[in-house]
Amino acid sequence: MSTLRRIFRYTTRYRWRALLAFFLAVSGTLLVLVMPAMTQRFIDDIIPNKRWDAIWPTALLAVGAIAFRQIIFTARTLSNNAFEQVVVHDLRRELYDKIQRLPMRWFDNQPTGDIMTRVGSDVPAIEKVIVDTIDQGLSGLLQFVIVLAYLLHLHTGLTMVTLAPMPVVALATWLYSRKNEARYRAASEASSALNSMLHDNIAGIRQIKAYTVEPQELLRFDRTSARVRQAQLTVAKANAMTWPGVSLIAESGIVAMMGAAAYWILKGEMQVGTLMAFLVSWGFLFDPLSRINPITQTFVGGVVAGKRVFSILDLHDEPNLIEGLRPAVLRGHVTFEEVGFSYAEKAPVVSGINVEALPGQTIAFVGPTGAGKSTLLNLLARFYECDEGRILIDGTPINELSKEWLRDNIGYVTQESFLFNASVRENLQLAKPDATDDELWAALTAANADGFVRRLEEGLDTVTGERGTKLSGGERQRLSIARALLKNPPILLLDEATSAVDNETEKLIQQALDRLRSQRTSFVIAHRLSTVREAHRICVMERGKIIESGHHKELLAEGGLYARLAATGFQEEKKPLPLEELSAIPGVDG
Ligand code: ADP
Repeated sequence: MSTLRRIFRYTTRYRWRALLAFFLAVSGTLLVLVMPAMTQRFIDDIIPNKRWDAIWPTALLAVGAIAFRQIIFTARTLSNNAFEQVVVHDLRRELYDKIQRLPMRWFDNQPTGDIMTRVGSDVPAIEKVIVDTIDQGLSGLLQFVIVLAYLLHLHTGLTMVTLAPMPVVALATWLYSRKNEARYRAASEASSALNSMLHDNIAGIRQIKAYTVEPQELLRFDRTSARVRQAQLTVAKANAMTWPGVSLIAESGIVAMMGAAAYWILKGEMQVGTLMAFLVSWGFLFDPLSRINPITQTFVGGVVAGKRVFSILDLHDEPNLIEGLRPAVLRGHVTFEEVGFSYAEKAPVVSGINVEALPGQTIAFVGPTGAGKSTLLNLLARFYECDEGRILIDGTPINELSKEWLRDNIGYVTQESFLFNASVRENLQLAKPDATDDELWAALTAANADGFVRRLEEGLDTVTGERGTKLSGGERQRLSIARALLKNPPILLLDEATSAVDNETEKLIQQALDRLRSQRTSFVIAHRLSTVREAHRICVMERGKIIESGHHKELLAEGGLYARLAATGFQEEKKPLPLEELSAIPGVDG
């Protein structure tokens, strides 16, 4: 019930549109009486009284009224469509805005396809409730009342007979809608699951092709799709079983009506024209009832959709998105103090982390995958909040800072170098919306990306393809470095790509990264020997802890995990480490 009330609260936002819809529905409805009134007039008055003079005027008046009703009908369709689209647009926008402000944790647990279903299908389902109720529901109710009053005025007894099937129809409708919510929910969830799967598989189409698992994936898709089929059929079956029965009862009413009318006409208590008026009106009386079915379906579907959408709108935004401290200057002194964190309630993913970076220093994190390196970068950007300890920037705990301010001051270059399916220019301007072409080219040049962008057919206006698929890995990396350079943040988070590129490209990327790191405090998940060599401090991580830390040479000398990692070679070092460095590792014979 409260979901419905909440859906209708949206109409208060569009009071004028709702009123217009109501007004047009009412005025169109009032004109339904033209047909029965005209029929009765012809049969009971004009024909028996041989009123030749009245034929044309009555007919013209009736046609005029019918034409007017159709004009209103067109206006009503147009205005309702506009109303619908306004509500859908607003609700969709509100939902998207909310989704953008939700914490990362929520996205971890929410399949993308499910989110897409909510924005794409649930929102229109909600809007239909509003428009259909005002247009179909209210006008139907009004039509019922008007026709009923007219019939009562013509003949009370016959009206009662005509209405006899109504209670049964009402009861059947009520029972139907009570049961149907679960069916609609099942159908909606099945569609969501199908969307999620489709989204996942299209995103992973390369993997599917590479592993030639098309048949297995088809099988999985088939199962999910069959669930949708089943759920939709259940809904359709319930409809198919309920409504013909209801119609049968309603239409039997016509037979009863004819029988009763025959009785009264034979007794001389009623004129044939009255029966004709009843016959013409019957359709108008029961037409609103036949609308109850689709409206109930819309209602039930809308309430299910409403619950799904409102459950998102009711979630809390990430804290401190906008509000919070915004220090005037940022020097870039970053300290991790006893930081601990876990994604789920389980064992901590990182714990007891202490790291200090002075302004302009580079801290390199190395260690096996899953050690918690990316997690530390995520915590610094406040994609997640520390469970224990704290992170300070220039002495201020980051959980007191405005995230907008914090993230404006952080550049984050991720391993996969994500690009949007937009032009090179738009992808770069993400970092600085008002950047001029000169600035863009300067950033591209510093990132060693100017050469290939110039060679692209449409230069800066070339569209990069979904997730940047139209560019090579090395090109994407350099574009994302250019993007970070353009942002020019005092703090840099860098997850070096591990994907192999040719030596020439490697050199270009290396140079670009060096430019990017210079003059700013940088936290780098390092895969390149040159990065760790130049780092002011290397933190070696294993199972969520920093187990070694120091300079390259110190760590080599320690002969621990770092020395072993170095011996197997960081990326790009296809050749073994230089002899003098190897000899520093105890147990390795120079
Ligand atoms: P690294 O960067 O060193 O490879 P991560 O910080 O990415 O390691 O991951 C550390 C651990 O946290 C891993 O065990 C990983 O499975 C887990 N993890 C990473 N991201 C998430 C997440 N969003 N939700 C749950 N667990 C995660």
